[in-house]
Amino acid sequence: TSYGFRQVADGEKQGLVNQVFHKVAKRYDIMNDVMSMGMHRAWKDAMISALSPRKESGYKVLDVAGGTGDIAFRIVEASGRQAHATVLDINGSMLGVGAERAEKKKLSGNLTFVEANAEELPFEAGSFDAYTIAFGIRNVPRIDAALSEAYRVLKRGGRLLVLEFSEVDMPLLDKIYDAWSFNAIPQFGKAITGDAEPYQYLVESIRKFPNQENFAAMIRQAGFSRVTFTNYTGGIAALHSGWKL
Ligand code: SAM
Repeated sequence: TSYGFRQVADGEKQGLVNQVFHKVAKRYDIMNDVMSMGMHRAWKDAMISALSPRKESGYKVLDVAGGTGDIAFRIVEASGRQAHATVLDINGSMLGVGAERAEKKKLSGNLTFVEANAEELPFEAGSFDAYTIAFGIRNVPRIDAALSEAYRVLKRGGRLLVLEFSEVDMPLLDKIYDAWSFNAIPQFGKAITGDAEPYQYLVESIRKFPNQENFAAMIRQAGFSRVTFTNYTGGIAALHSGWKL
């Protein structure tokens, strides 16, 4: 399908993505609420329940594309402030906002912030009990590289959880969702940051991302076992799970 947006070459993709998140970092959390009509909170809570982090100080989670910290904060809280979470993101502006929020929530002791690329993780093999990524993998140019890095850094018995926009499977909802994302989201982006094009790109990236079945196949391809997915809100988002066994 063509929605009239210009085609983005792979090499250019990361640059555009970085530009978007650098611009919106300070307003990212409010933008999330506006654009998902608050639904991202429920989806993230459901992801954390699926993970059910162990209440142990040795429990280590890597939250990739962790941005302003939403997933990591929830994990640390759900573990009774026992777990340690590493928030990794390619964008220092997003991490900066995350670190400030962590201070305010008095969670800094349980968190480490790392600026790096999901395609090349600066950690040894077998370092983490869980790898989480929420609304991030769609932005990574080489998804297969990110998934094999996820596999590498997990311990045996470790869990992968990916929360991402997916394919809507409800007849009326898909129409409403199209109207919302192709018109409203770039308009909001323009109103808040002064520029619609990066948002058009992000919306387009949702359309290009593989659907539930195809993404599950990619996760299996990276070596994961017991791969399953759960749709949220008619498939607007989906949670994929896999294990390194
Ligand atoms: N996980 C957070 C959440 O759910 O609120 C933030 C999601 S935000 C939509 C996407 C994040 O992915 C941005 O912070 C962006 O900088 C990050 N990102 C994009 N490409 C990346 C890459 N190659 N490696 C690591 N992070 C990346």
